[in-house]
Amino acid sequence: MKRFTYLLVGVLAIAVLAGACASTQQRGLDLVTRAVQASGGPVALGGVKTISEKGTVKQWEPEQSAVAGGEMRFSNESTIDAVTDVATRTTRIDWVRTYHYPAPRSFTYSEIVTPTAGHVAGVDSNARTKQSQESNPPAHTMSGVRMAAVQRELLRSSPLLVLEMFKNPANLSAVGDISVGGGVTHPAVDYRAGDQIFTVMFDRATGLPARIRTLDYDSVWGDVTYDLVLSDWQTVDGVRVAMTRKYELNGRVVMETKISQVRLNAPLAADRLVIPAAYLADARGPAAGSVPYQWIIRRQFIGVYLDSEQPSYDTKASPGLRFVELGPGVQHQVGGTHHSLVVEMKDHVVVYDAPVSDWQANWVLSAVRAKYLRKPVKYIVLTHHHMDHVGGIRAYANEGATIVTGKGTAEHWKRVLAAPYTRNPDLAPKDLTRTPIIEVADKWIHTDGQREVHAYVISPNPHAEGLMIGYVPDLKLGYVTDVWNPGAPLPDRLNPNLASVVAGVKKAGIAPAKFAGGHGGTADYAPLAALEGK
Ligand SMILES: [Zn+2]
Repeated sequence: MKRFTYLLVGVLAIAVLAGACASTQQRGLDLVTRAVQASGGPVALGGVKTISEKGTVKQWEPEQSAVAGGEMRFSNESTIDAVTDVATRTTRIDWVRTYHYPAPRSFTYSEIVTPTAGHVAGVDSNARTKQSQESNPPAHTMSGVRMAAVQRELLRSSPLLVLEMFKNPANLSAVGDISVGGGVTHPAVDYRAGDQIFTVMFDRATGLPARIRTLDYDSVWGDVTYDLVLSDWQTVDGVRVAMTRKYELNGRVVMETKISQVRLNAPLAADRLVIPAAYLADARGPAAGSVPYQWIIRRQFIGVYLDSEQPSYDTKASPGLRFVELGPGVQHQVGGTHHSLVVEMKDHVVVYDAPVSDWQANWVLSAVRAKYLRKPVKYIVLTHHHMDHVGGIRAYANEGATIVTGKGTAEHWKRVLAAPYTRNPDLAPKDLTRTPIIEVADKWIHTDGQREVHAYVISPNPHAEGLMIGYVPDLKLGYVTDVWNPGAPLPDRLNPNLASVVAGVKKAGIAPAKFAGGHGGTADYAPLAALEGK
C-alpha cells in the first residue's frame, strides 16, 4: 500500500511537472506571439527579404582603463553600412572605424558572413594574421570562433529574431519575470539557437523585445551578463525596428549603435555579398562549444583582435606557444601574441604576467611542471591590470600562487577573485578569495638566498597606473610589457612610453643588459637608453 502511495505521488508529481512545462512553454509562446504582433505581425515580418541599415557605433572597453577598476576607455566611433539577404542568411557590413585607443588610427574594411563562411576584406586590426599580411589587397578568412560571435550578434540584433522564435516554439521556454536596473521587471523567455541561449525580456507595455541577454564568460570578471538593450522604435514598411541598440556588460554600457537609416526590401547588388572563391577554401562554419565571445567581441572594440581559431596565437603561422631559454632557469614563453617570463628559484618558480586566458596560463603551468619538476609557481607578478595580460590570473591563484601587483591595484584583484566563474572553460570553480596579494608600493625584491627577482613600479607612465617592470639581477635581464616591445624597431627619439621605461630603470638603480617583453622577443637595453636626450 505504501509503495502504491509513493507510486501515485510520483505519477501525480510527473503530471504536475508536465503540466507546468506545457504551460511554461505556452506562456513563452504567448509572449513571443505578442512580440511578433507588436513588431508588425507575421505577414509583414515574413515579407522582409532584404534589410539595409546605416548608422554609427561607439564602443568602450572597461578592462583597459588607466586605473584598475577605473573609468572605461572610449575606444572608437565607427560608421556601419550593413545589408542582409534574408533568404541566404548572408550579411555584409562595411565599417569605417576611427579609433581613439590604444592609438589614434582608422580601419576601413568589410565583413561578409554566410551561414558557412566569413570573410574580411581590408585591414580590421593591428594584430593581423599571416593570411591577412600575405594577401594583396589585405583580406582574410574569418576563424570559426569569430564566425560564431558575428552570427550570434547578427541574430540577436535582427528585427526578425521574434519571427524566428515564433517559428521554433520547441526552442522556447518562459523563465518568469526578470528584474534589471533596480526595479524594472520584464516577462522573459529563453530561446535556444544552436548552442546559444538568448534570454529575451519583453517590454510589459508594448510587448516588444526590450533586452536580449546571453550569459558569457569574461577572462577578468568571470561569469557576466551581456545584454542588447533595444529602444527608440520606428516603423519601417510596417515593421518595428529599434534604432538605438546598446550593449551592457554586467550592467555597464560598452557599445551603442544608433541606426540612422533603415530600408527593407531594397534591391541588393548580388556581387556585394559574394566571398571571393580563394577565401572559401579554408572557410569554416561557426565554431561550437566554448567560444570566447567576450574576447572576440571586445578585442575588436580596440582594434587588436587576432582572428585565429586559438586566441593565443595565429594557428596559420605559429606551431604554438613555446619556451625560449634566456639563461639558467629563465624561460621566455613566446610563440603567441602575449608572453610571460618564467624564473626558476631554489624550490619554486616565479612567473611574470598571466596573459590572455586560463588556457594560456594552463599551458605555462604545465610547461613549468615538465621543466622544473615539483617546483610550484609561488608568485605571479602582474605588470599591469589590462585584460590581455591578466586573463590567466585564476589558473595561477588556483595553483596557490601569491599575486604580486602594483600600487593601487590590490582591491581590484580582490573583487575579481571574488567573482563567480562557473562558465570558465579552462578551470573548475573554487574559492579563490583567500589568494594572498602583495601590493608593491615602489619595489618588490624576492630572494631564495641564491637568486633574486625584482619588480619596480614605473611612475609616472602613460599606460596604466601601478605598472611594473621585472628584473632578474644575475642575468641583468629586465621584463617589460606594453610600454616597450623589445625587438620592435626603435624610433629616433623617446616617446612617452619608452621614456617612462628609461626613467623607471634609472630610478630603480638597476643595470639591465637586455629586456624580454610581454609582447615581442628580447632586445639589448643600451640602444633604448641611448635615445635619452636625443
Ligand atoms: Zn596594457
